[in-house]
Amino acid sequence: MTWFLARLLLIALALLVGAAVGWWAGREFATPLVAELMGAGTAVGLFALFDSLRAHRLMEWLRGSQQEAAPRDRGFWGEIGYRVERALRQREQALARERLWLEQFLSAIEASPNGVLMLDDNDQIQWCNRVAADHFSLDPQRDLQQRITNLVRAPSFVAYLQAGEYQEPLMLTIGARGRGSLSVVVRGYGDGRKLILSVDVTERERADAMRRDFVANVSHEIRTPLTVLAGFIETMDNLPLTEPERRRVLSLMQQQTQRMQTLVADLLTLAQLEGSPRPAPDRWVPLDNLLQRVRSDATALSTGRHRITVIADTQIELAGVEGELLSAIGNLLSNAVRYTPEGGGIDVHWRELADGSGELCVADTGPGIAREHLPRLTERFYRVDGSRSRESGGTGLGLSIVKHVVQRHGGELQIESEVGKGSRFKLQFPAARVRTRQLEQAQPAEQA
Ligand code: ADP
Repeated sequence: MTWFLARLLLIALALLVGAAVGWWAGREFATPLVAELMGAGTAVGLFALFDSLRAHRLMEWLRGSQQEAAPRDRGFWGEIGYRVERALRQREQALARERLWLEQFLSAIEASPNGVLMLDDNDQIQWCNRVAADHFSLDPQRDLQQRITNLVRAPSFVAYLQAGEYQEPLMLTIGARGRGSLSVVVRGYGDGRKLILSVDVTERERADAMRRDFVANVSHEIRTPLTVLAGFIETMDNLPLTEPERRRVLSLMQQQTQRMQTLVADLLTLAQLEGSPRPAPDRWVPLDNLLQRVRSDATALSTGRHRITVIADTQIELAGVEGELLSAIGNLLSNAVRYTPEGGGIDVHWRELADGSGELCVADTGPGIAREHLPRLTERFYRVDGSRSRESGGTGLGLSIVKHVVQRHGGELQIESEVGKGSRFKLQFPAARVRTRQLEQAQPAEQA
């Protein structure tokens, strides 16, 4: 403003001086040249006045936010305004493009299944995605600019971050009571800044632990009969046995071999169930055929020690793989026979539910199972009574196979049991895999 006023004053002064000079010259000399000089002086003064007005408008626009267009004047000031505005708009567009790119970049990191956290050279949080916030129990807004070691206080994490040796990832336990495990990797970048990447490896760790347990269990299951066999071989080799002794030893050896064969067969069944796709729901297996076959197996196994009732005139068909269904029902019946004491009853019946689904129930009057064991019964090698299971030829894999089979057929295994009152194992099948055979209607349709 002062600049503009000073200029105005100067111009006014110039006009005054010009007029005074003209008045004095007109009185003294009264020549046309002086009058022309006076006119020119006035014109220059007026031009300078308008010029200053334009410069003032441009200056006001530059001092403002430049949201509106620059003053559209002609000439020098108009050109400057136009060029400044164009440069500004180009800069704004470049900035908007960069901002968009940054937003897209951050949303891509936000979508990552892994945690990403950026620290400045003071270990203060600059940015983190929601997964990292969840992993480290942070608030992505409130905890910005906070030093990470004040928020994640696990001693192993603090020591790892401060040691500065990040070749190996850090395994960090997260959540209450060791709920899960995180694999944390730190990478340095820029001027002392750090990038922290975190991956939830809880499931992987659990699967690793299960695999380790499984291998240990299989080795244990095989080692026992092998040790017994080795002992018998040594006995036969070192001792002169009578014929009855030799036959007894051979029979015991056969039992152990049989035990290993059953175990290997069950392991192969499990591996096959896990490795093959779900059975398509278009192959229909008559339930009655399955029930008749498992009934004769159970009767043979029971050798008349139990009352076995299998209702096998259901007209029901199940969609699935015959061998798998046979194995599931067979395992349940074999368990019922093996665990129910002599004189007990075993009952197998089918029940159709209102929504078209159905369940096959294998009930026994055996010893029952305490409530705390029920959730773990379908784990591999889980037994309530190990010696009893082994004595009766159990591998500890039967219910695991049953659960796999029924799940592959879209159903569920339900177990109800009470100590002293027996057990009920129910195979529940969804409506899509259950139908009633309609022979009478089907045949005329086929003939037509
Ligand atoms: P196993 O080969 O030991 O029978 P399963 O997986 O078939 O293995 O069964 C797991 C455990 O569940 C058995 O060891 C047994 O303790 C218990 N169990 C299974 N069925 C019955 C039943 N009908 N009555 C009582 N206990 C049972």
